[in-house]
Amino acid sequence: MNLDWITPAQRLAALPPYVFARLDELKARAREQGLDLIDLGMGNPDGAAPQPVIEAAIAALHNPANHGYPPFEGTASFRRAITTWYRRRYDVDLNPDSEALPLLGSKEGLTHLALAYINPGDLILVPSPSYPPHFRGPLIAGGEIYSLILKPENDWLIDLTAIPDEVAQRAKILYFNYPSNPTTATAPREFFEEIVAFARRYSILLVHDLCYAELAFDGYQPTSLLEIPGGKEVGVEFHTLSKTYNMAGWRVGFVVGNRHIIQGLRTLKTNLDYGIFAALQTAAETALQLPDSHLNEVQQRYIRRRDFLIQGLGELGWEIPKSKATMYLWVPCPPGETSTDFALNILQKTGVVVTPGNAFGIGGEGYVRVSLIADCDRLGEAISRLKQAGIRYQS
Ligand SMILES: *Cc1c(COP(=O)(O)O)cnc(C)c1O
Repeated sequence: MNLDWITPAQRLAALPPYVFARLDELKARAREQGLDLIDLGMGNPDGAAPQPVIEAAIAALHNPANHGYPPFEGTASFRRAITTWYRRRYDVDLNPDSEALPLLGSKEGLTHLALAYINPGDLILVPSPSYPPHFRGPLIAGGEIYSLILKPENDWLIDLTAIPDEVAQRAKILYFNYPSNPTTATAPREFFEEIVAFARRYSILLVHDLCYAELAFDGYQPTSLLEIPGGKEVGVEFHTLSKTYNMAGWRVGFVVGNRHIIQGLRTLKTNLDYGIFAALQTAAETALQLPDSHLNEVQQRYIRRRDFLIQGLGELGWEIPKSKATMYLWVPCPPGETSTDFALNILQKTGVVVTPGNAFGIGGEGYVRVSLIADCDRLGEAISRLKQAGIRYQS
């Protein structure tokens, strides 16, 4: 039968091709051949959620009251846990009824925020490289993307002075994310002050993704947009429990900040979903209340992996600075190789999977992202395979 009449909406056609598709195909083929893949491609933490969180979830499952539809806007008690956590971490006061909204993972909220706020043709400022939902959400909504190309010589920070005045005048939303996936860059507090001033001057909504709020190392504490005077007047900030608490499959995140911006997202979501399973909201509260000793343990785990991999890559010619946060290394391709070629070459010769930087936008070309989602034994195996295959960095 001819299926030409089954045509998806134009909003899907607007999406750029999925760079992971070819990589996935090669991964599947390598697996069929019995190759032992070391997958450092995804941002998917290895291991289980903390034991107290699992126990809280089990106990909550035994309560029949948790089995019905949860309240649209999340349980009052999870929203209070969110604002209490904000107060403890950032010394920021938020109203749990109007300034905090639980999400089915932050990806859901980031994309739906785009649908709630972007009209076809609206101009949206998005860094390149960036986490794909930051540009894919606006594209689905029909927005026009203005890419802010990030550069190593500017420490991967957005150069606000490079944005033409007429572009800033037209722009409706600016997405940003520090500590950054994929570049691992962090932004000083002054940068946050500048971006708030910029947003106020041009009446632009700021969407900050702070999903690596707690995966920060060596004493570094990431900045919240909401600690900056005026930040809450112009923006919202997204968080997730996926990374710090190994809860990626649980689908729990939240957004905090400007009550009017949050209200639009809440209205849209009321028409789409019923929010997070109440038992999981109870467990998520437990996660946010864990003592800092839990955090230290997680941070030490990533520090060990980071240092181990930097050392191993160092023996192969790479000089990679120690990232102050996130769960990645951002690794330059050998000169002359594109990020797709380099990632495919590594996969074919060694069975190690890394993500080509261009999956995060054109600004990621020339780099690959390596996730610290395996223990040092496996990372050591990855390094020795690279050595054997003669993969090196020569400048
Ligand atoms: C991993 C990640 C998220 C988390 O998404 P969830 O949907 O909450 O699992 C959000 N933003 C960035 C930049 C990420 O790297």
